[in-house]
Amino acid sequence: MIVVMEKDANDEQIAHMVQRVEELGLKSHVIRGAERTVIAAIGEKREHTREALEAGSGVENVLPILAPYKVASREVKPEATQVVAGSLKVGAGELGVIAGPCSVESEEQILSAAHAVKQAGATAIRGGAFKPRTSPYSFQGLKQQGLELLAAARDETGLAVVTEVVASEDVGLVAKYADVLQIGARNMQNYRLLEAVGNTDRAVLLKRGPSATIEELLLAAEYILNAGNPNVMLCERGVRTFETHTRFTLPLATVPYLRRITHLPIVIDPSHGTGHAYLVPDMAAAAVAVGTDGLIIEVHPDPEKALSDGYQSLNYQQFEDTMQKCRRIAQAVGASL
Ligand code: PEP
Ligand code: MN
Repeated sequence: MIVVMEKDANDEQIAHMVQRVEELGLKSHVIRGAERTVIAAIGEKREHTREALEAGSGVENVLPILAPYKVASREVKPEATQVVAGSLKVGAGELGVIAGPCSVESEEQILSAAHAVKQAGATAIRGGAFKPRTSPYSFQGLKQQGLELLAAARDETGLAVVTEVVASEDVGLVAKYADVLQIGARNMQNYRLLEAVGNTDRAVLLKRGPSATIEELLLAAEYILNAGNPNVMLCERGVRTFETHTRFTLPLATVPYLRRITHLPIVIDPSHGTGHAYLVPDMAAAAVAVGTDGLIIEVHPDPEKALSDGYQSLNYQQFEDTMQKCRRIAQAVGASL
């Protein structure tokens, strides 16, 4: 249920209602909007709960939350959420661009990539240190050394670091270095991992599983939000279909659809979504045209020699051209990039 407080409800009344919600055996999430504060009361509803809450001082209304996801829904929070992590701002009118190699491979590679993507206008550097590879024989990432190199790239450029965490036991270590914890597509439904990142104060980029529905994506986000971390970005990175000309199928309708049902910001990944470097610039521009809040793009100094995902990575010039194309589209649709 949502406890909608009156416009001029004071802190004491809000604190009292939080206590009442918890006394009724429900979990409370206080969401302070520009207009008014609402308290999401989550858990099994007992008889008369609604009436009991409605009687509280400063309460305007108590409404049921119809969507299966609660804290993520627009019903609970009508205003868009902006996630801020260092130099990266995503959502509520800010378009963030995360760019960099699939994997951190060496000091030279990540520092060079960080400078190049920053120069072209990216607002965060990406790079995997812990890589979830389909084959156990593929490059698995530089692990802690990769994290240290990412931190060095941040020190040199000021760019926020986005990197993946693949296991709950690594969350503490990765959070020490990263500004944004990426949950990869393969782990979207790893609920213990979602709770573990939900217990940190780091922003989270949650990638959609290749066979997950949007409702499942939002319920996965709900695990993170419910653990107390409000800074979640949803990432559409393509789903598996019968089509074989692209690595995955990238549904851009996800952007306006999610916009309608959730306040969380949306990031599009045209690199994994297509699996071909030549498709990335147009799909990035298309994502901006449909109103994405962010982009995550793989960029490598020499894609041919990349240790992972080189075939879908842009070189520096291609990334620079893509940014220019996206800027023109952003201007046309009234977004700022
Ligand atoms: C990645 O970002 O390099 C990655 C492994 O992405 P995904 O989890 O979407 O496959
Ligand atoms: Mn990759």
